[in-house]
Amino acid sequence: MKNFTISDIILSQPYEGGEKTSFQIPLLAPYITETESDYVQECIRKGWITTVGEFIEIFEQKIKTYTQSSYVVAVSSGTAALHLALRAIGVERDTLVILPNISFVASANAIHYCGAEPFFIDIHPATWQLDENLLLKFLEKECFYTKEQTFHKASQRRISALVLVHNLGNLGNISAIQEICQAYQIPFVEDAAEALGSFYEGKHAGTFGKIGILSFNGNKIVSTGGGGAVLTNDENISKKVRHWANQAKINSEEYYHDEIGYNYRLPNPLAAIGVAQMEKISLFLEKKRLIHEFYTNILQGKALWQNTLPKVEPNHWLFTALFENSTLLAQKFKESAIQTRKLWYPLNRLPMHQKCEYMQENDFSWKIYEKSLSLPSSVGLQMEDLEKIAKVLESVES
Ligand SMILES: *Cc1c(COP(=O)(O)O)cnc(C)c1O
Repeated sequence: MKNFTISDIILSQPYEGGEKTSFQIPLLAPYITETESDYVQECIRKGWITTVGEFIEIFEQKIKTYTQSSYVVAVSSGTAALHLALRAIGVERDTLVILPNISFVASANAIHYCGAEPFFIDIHPATWQLDENLLLKFLEKECFYTKEQTFHKASQRRISALVLVHNLGNLGNISAIQEICQAYQIPFVEDAAEALGSFYEGKHAGTFGKIGILSFNGNKIVSTGGGGAVLTNDENISKKVRHWANQAKINSEEYYHDEIGYNYRLPNPLAAIGVAQMEKISLFLEKKRLIHEFYTNILQGKALWQNTLPKVEPNHWLFTALFENSTLLAQKFKESAIQTRKLWYPLNRLPMHQKCEYMQENDFSWKIYEKSLSLPSSVGLQMEDLEKIAKVLESVES
């Protein structure tokens, strides 16, 4: 096994140039080395290419050690992990699940898979995370509390959960939200899909409530190509989640299944990639921090970006800033074959959410979305890439 150092990451291109895109500089490409290749080849050589194999357990163990979560179940995607997590904490049909209005659509989709409906709440203008003041206002004014459960007055629906998304790997005021959820007996699931390597008061994202999830999709900080994990401090939940992910199979000889399950297991070769990636996570984080520093230095006084609260140590997954003329700037990047994109489209404006409610006072979701531009943040970015990007950014007026 090769021991990587930060200079390897800064000076070398990823193995075989990484993922092919039509852009010279992609937004977020996975950083793959020979180690990933060796481990996958080991799976193939030994014939362990299915969802049984030793890398799965090693990968789960690595995530467990890194996040200090009591239990970790590796699954086929972050979306699958979120679906299982919501089911595990009792999200039922026709209930409401609170969700920040800015998140990747998968957070809302998993709620729909449970037959529940998302209730959107606007984000905080500084942190771009669920606004805890609006949340409290919503619960105090628009809900009633009875028999240890909270109901939405207008629809008479039970609030069965809150999905706490950690947008761009940064974290909001977790302790305030924890307190509010506690007071209203609303269980929360942390969607830490983007937040591997982020900490709040020294505690890893995804470990604050009973249950949280991670994603190892192609663009995430650690990628298995596709994959996810459920983090929980509850042994029963971990057993249930593992059971459901494996078609709720009780006995492999008789094919007896005691519940409705899913085919959500992670294949061994993907876990093998994950193991090789986890060996480099501290270097990935260091490089992301350097990229963040590079951008904030050149954009000081020219643009705004997500604030980081004092208790938070973020992973700097994807640098995103607000520009007065983001559309024009995006066009300039495109002409230079540099990939950029806006934040997630506000969820309340998507066609399948036309009937869902959205609590807001200033619609910061839309205001931030409109001005936002995410800039290339791949671990494999080279100095010459950053110089090309800086050149385009020079055209931004202060
Ligand atoms: C990536 C992501 C997901 C989904 O993860 P997949 O592994 O792509 O299914 C869910 N929520 C958020 C916030 C994400 O960024």
